[in-house]
Amino acid sequence: MKTIKVVVIGGGLVGLSTAICISESLPQCEVTVVSESFSPNTTGDVAAGCLIPHTYPDTPFEQQKKWFQETFDHLFKIANSAEGADAGISLLTGWQVYKNPPEEAFPFWWDVVLGFRLMTPTEIAKFPCHKFGQTFTTLKCQSSLYLPWMEQRFKTNGGTVQTGKVESIWQLYGKYNIVVNCSGIGSRELIGDLSLYPVKGQVLEVHAPWIKHFIREGNGNTYIYPGITGTTLGGTRQKDDWTLSADAKISKEILDRCCDLEPSLRGVSIIREKVGLRPTRSAIRLEKEIFSKNGQQLPVVHNYGHGGSGFSVHIGTAKQATRMVEELIPLVGQFNVMSKL
Ligand SMILES: Cc1cc2nc3c(=O)[nH]c(=O)nc-3n(C[C@H](O)[C@H](O)[C@H](O)COP(=O)(O)OP(=O)(O)OC[C@H]3O[C@@H](n4cnc5c(N)ncnc54)[C@H](O)[C@@H]3O)c2cc1C
Repeated sequence: MKTIKVVVIGGGLVGLSTAICISESLPQCEVTVVSESFSPNTTGDVAAGCLIPHTYPDTPFEQQKKWFQETFDHLFKIANSAEGADAGISLLTGWQVYKNPPEEAFPFWWDVVLGFRLMTPTEIAKFPCHKFGQTFTTLKCQSSLYLPWMEQRFKTNGGTVQTGKVESIWQLYGKYNIVVNCSGIGSRELIGDLSLYPVKGQVLEVHAPWIKHFIREGNGNTYIYPGITGTTLGGTRQKDDWTLSADAKISKEILDRCCDLEPSLRGVSIIREKVGLRPTRSAIRLEKEIFSKNGQQLPVVHNYGHGGSGFSVHIGTAKQATRMVEELIPLVGQFNVMSKL
């Protein structure tokens, strides 16, 4: 019987994956997602969705690697199942090239992806401005398919979604036993987390069906990711820029940088420009907190701040948030948070 009411704030990549994980792992929980926006209007809809981790400076590498490994293993199974096409998850091979070799030739995640090795001189010769490179096979989530697929999977499993803004965590008191905060950059306003900031990213989706491999600059912002509906060209990292409009000058500059990497892109037709705000902190906030006011308590699990790496780690962080929800369940009776019902 479902006796624990859980509400997840945020219907983006992190909220949906966390809601699915809770509803599938904790059958005693009835899960509702409340969100101002859903796909196609979330940050994940802008992303190329490639599983290549960025580094969170204040999180130990072992922890980041565990999240990445759990995410990779989970999505790899889906990619190799009959659901792979509907979910928009596929394998993608390519090159990560460097003008100057990185400090570590092998990043911390090298043995999570498949077939990681250094590029041969013949391979690197394809990139005359670059001296060093790595090649590997990873996974890519086509967000226009993956996010709606997750929403459907959540609903099929008995979950409920509601559109709306949560103005204060306390408005949920009395309706739900446990709150899970996956509001991304919204946490700055919702709970006043000023260590969270936006890093604006602008990308182009172009029609270049001959591009079959990813190419990215390992220590730059330039990348080319082929996908199911188009190829994503990136990008920018504009810290503290809240504007959600695309800049034509920046689009031209992105296209020029990508053409330098892959000259066959010259003259390519642009399908659309996309902009999103990466919800960034020095570490993802994965934490339990008991909100208290006037003798009332409301248990909250925070799961936000995934920055430029949400796709790469979201299953690992969803699992950790789910364990935190499980740990809070025994407290629910003590807090009697349903007393208003
Ligand atoms: C250009 C770009 C390229 C990227 N490329 C990659 C990539 O290749 N690989 C990778 O791993 N990652 C990539 N990322 C990062 C990835 O997209 C993000 O880490 C991820 O989408 C963040 O998901 P989220 O659910 O935390 O945030 P969001 O998608 O922003 O979701 C937050 C949700 O919470 C809702 N919300 C906020 N406040 C409230 C409130 N008060 N009440 C109700 N609802 C609320 C919002 O409406 C929204 O639906 C990229 C990001 C960008 C911008």
